[in-house]
Amino acid sequence: MAKAPKAKGSKTKAPKNKALTAEAAQATTPRTPGSFWTTPATEALRWTRGTDLSALDPASTPGWAGRKQDGEALMAARAPELADLQERLFAHGRTGGDRSVLLVLQGLDTSGKGGIVRHVVGMVDPQGVMHRGFGVPTAEEKEHGYLWRVRNALPRPGYLGVFDRSHHEQVLVVRVDRLEPVRTWRRHFRELNEFEAEVAASGTLIVKVALFVSPDEQKARLAERLDRPDKHWKYNPSDIDVRLKLPEYLAAYQELLDRTSTDVAPWYAVPADRKWYARLAVTELLGTALRSLDLSWPPADFDVEAEKARLAAT
Ligand code: AMP
Ligand code: MG
Repeated sequence: MAKAPKAKGSKTKAPKNKALTAEAAQATTPRTPGSFWTTPATEALRWTRGTDLSALDPASTPGWAGRKQDGEALMAARAPELADLQERLFAHGRTGGDRSVLLVLQGLDTSGKGGIVRHVVGMVDPQGVMHRGFGVPTAEEKEHGYLWRVRNALPRPGYLGVFDRSHHEQVLVVRVDRLEPVRTWRRHFRELNEFEAEVAASGTLIVKVALFVSPDEQKARLAERLDRPDKHWKYNPSDIDVRLKLPEYLAAYQELLDRTSTDVAPWYAVPADRKWYARLAVTELLGTALRSLDLSWPPADFDVEAEKARLAAT
């Protein structure tokens, strides 16, 4: 969007593209943004082995005591910081650093993975993002082990990697649709953990998000995709087949979370019936991850004063 000129006679109303500054958010927020997290998202959502996934309410808002508008206000207030933190990561990569962040998004159709990419990842500079969606393996991908395409998509130093679906499908769709014998896919749990430990050891901070939408909300979202011509491209007739296997997927997700949530690559189970909550939660998880890298701006590798003098002389 082009820079909007200062609107005449509307001093209090910020132009739309300025709405995401902390100042603007503060001005429109009824209460202090941030005060509605009763428990930090990292704690409220982190998967604890053995939790009963069927007891998770997809309409709930763990850790958050505010309303939708409070959540949206906080998200807007977080935007400048998220962009700043991601730029530090990018600068770090450009100056020889080895850190990166990988956001893994898992969830059934309509759980809002795409919306998280658009609304949360969309708050940072796209040049620093390596996004990859994983679908049914192509003929070329099938010639290799299932981790091949994943390794090729890992974020380089300085980048924020985003996986829309991931290597974890190897114990989800592969299990539910019986694409491999039980003995084969069962082995993957250990491989997935070993792989992620290796990725983490190379400098990548892994944040895994599993989004959970209720059967009713999923039905409503699929109905909307069918009703609206601008959403037909998102619909796939096989979405109904997946829907018919929800209990199997729930069991597969339960075991996935129990067996692959590790200290170096924890899972966060995010209720996703309220899109605003899921987006806010991932904003917090991503912000916390980036902040934990504690990256400062890289120092200049040139003499700043000398360069100022040279510039002044031109
Ligand atoms: P979408 O995310 O809507 O573009 O759909 C991607 C499709 O690819 C989903 O139906 C997934 O179940 C499927 N998919 C992703 N990974 C795999 C995999 N490793 N094996 C088989 N199907 C997969
Ligand atoms: Mg789909």
